[in-house]
Amino acid sequence: MRIDILTLFPEMCETVMSESIIGRARAAGKVEIVCTNIRDFSGNKWNKVDDTPYGGGMGMIMAADPIYNCYKSLYSEDEPKPHLIYMSPKGKTFDQKKAVELSRLDRVVLLCGHYEGIDQRVIDEIVDEELSVGDYVLTGGELPALTVADAVCRMLPGVLSDDLCFEEESHFDGLLEYPQYTRPPVWHDRQVPEILLSGNHGKIADWRRVKAIETTIERRPDMLKQEDLSPKDIKLISKYKQIL
Ligand code: SAM
Repeated sequence: MRIDILTLFPEMCETVMSESIIGRARAAGKVEIVCTNIRDFSGNKWNKVDDTPYGGGMGMIMAADPIYNCYKSLYSEDEPKPHLIYMSPKGKTFDQKKAVELSRLDRVVLLCGHYEGIDQRVIDEIVDEELSVGDYVLTGGELPALTVADAVCRMLPGVLSDDLCFEEESHFDGLLEYPQYTRPPVWHDRQVPEILLSGNHGKIADWRRVKAIETTIERRPDMLKQEDLSPKDIKLISKYKQIL
């Protein structure tokens, strides 16, 4: 898969995408990430990419032409148009389901706005969808684009050591993850739940499922309600309530 990030701050994106798991995945050729500077497509000797808003108001607006030309430079006429996502607080909220969906595409382009945003006409002409990372406003689309790129990349084959790494995690199957522990078995008088030291993989899997359900109902009742539990899960929970 190839992910392009169109930005006024390519070094910022490059730095983040060169570290840790994603950096190693890039080096191993599991994913291609290309950060392109929109300013290189300003088309003027001052490298200016923004202007004042028509109708007045605060701040500057990124002009249509540099963004359009930057995007057009990524593919030739005989190639399919790469899926273009504008990172925007007005977009649909990004979630794990969307990350899975994007990870199945061959190519995704993430467009980062800055200042007060970008000229609506270029959005109408080339953008396929708008994604938000939450109901708040950041100074630029770089952190949102990096968030999307990271969440998508870690689901690509071979990026994590095993698919189970993300399949059992929060949000993948509509649940939050169960609590996790590592050595030592007792820390500050706090004991690791006995069952995790038992070596009984069946019981550990059941305990984790019960804990994941419990955590989800408690913290995110919008994701799972008690009355939506399957008969199998209800049975499992009542069994473990007696044991724990
Ligand atoms: N004036 C815009 C508005 O009220 O919707 C906000 C512009 S914001 C200061 C500048 C850029 O940051 C946006 O063009 C967008 O690319 C990015 N951005 C800010 N908050 C975001 C969010 N929650 N999700 C995705 N992108 C965001």
